[in-house]
Amino acid sequence: MITLKGAEVSAKIKEQVTEDLKKLGGTIPTLAIVRVGEKPDDMSYERGAKKKLESFGLKAESFVFPEDITDQDFKEAFRKICEDEQVTGILLLKPLPKQICEKDIDRMIDPKKDLDGISPENIAKVFAGDPTGFAPCTAEAVIEVLKAYDIPITGKRATVVGRSMIVGKPLSMLLLKENATVTVCHTRTADLKGTCKNAEILVAAAGKAKMLDGDYVGEGAVVIDVGINVDGDGKLCGDVDFASIQEKAAMATPVPGGVGAVTTAVLAAHLVRAALQQAG
Ligand code: NAD
Repeated sequence: MITLKGAEVSAKIKEQVTEDLKKLGGTIPTLAIVRVGEKPDDMSYERGAKKKLESFGLKAESFVFPEDITDQDFKEAFRKICEDEQVTGILLLKPLPKQICEKDIDRMIDPKKDLDGISPENIAKVFAGDPTGFAPCTAEAVIEVLKAYDIPITGKRATVVGRSMIVGKPLSMLLLKENATVTVCHTRTADLKGTCKNAEILVAAAGKAKMLDGDYVGEGAVVIDVGINVDGDGKLCGDVDFASIQEKAAMATPVPGGVGAVTTAVLAAHLVRAALQQAG
């Protein structure tokens, strides 16, 4: 089985970002990372994103708010960030605390700065197959992995396990745009094993540690693991039991070292694209 390495895909994206940056004539775009509270997962993602952006020659600034901030105060602060001309793009770390109406925030974000595709306008563009919008970075990262390794998508049976608005659903649309025949699985899927086994491209985005083992994988399948979980020993792991699919899959992404590294590279690419679009 071939291991699909996120670092290699990220390096390819960096080459494109470096080219695109030259078109900005020395202006360095800035990402605003908006975080409410101190959740370790958010902070670790924020550190990773900052590090990646800096390594791509881009800037990232954190806007941090207390966990108990009121809905009104957060909306006021968020509006200012959206309107700030120094801010090229925004990454909002979710979920937000319960007192903040997340749906309102999704509607407030300026679609031109919405790098992770949470606004209704960008969601609609992803569903319409319109490439001028921003798809959620993780969903797009899966497509980038497949393309970087020249894995054919057209006509292939692609199964996505997970139907969230940030990964499963948009990814299904992106795969459809690439002409795959897409099946979406979720907690109520009757025959998960059989459906997964039938896939030529299997994407795991359920958020359940090692739930897909070799029995869920067809001979020669390409397996993309989006999951980021912690196993019983406290180690980072994906939704796929990587060891048990070795004899079945033709190719697979590991966790860590797979899709995660590509997600932040896509974020960087989105930031530069936003800057170019804003510059007209
Ligand atoms: P989520 O909890 O919002 O959605 C999970 C989906 O999986 C749901 O639609 C649910 O129906 C489905 N699901 C859950 N258990 C299932 C089961 N036993 N059988 C079938 N379907 C099942 O999660 P999410 O935000 O979409 O994230 C999914 C995973 O991807 C998580 O592990 C998350 O940490 C990870 N993630 C990774 C990145 C990255 O950059 N690699 C980014 C975002 C999320």
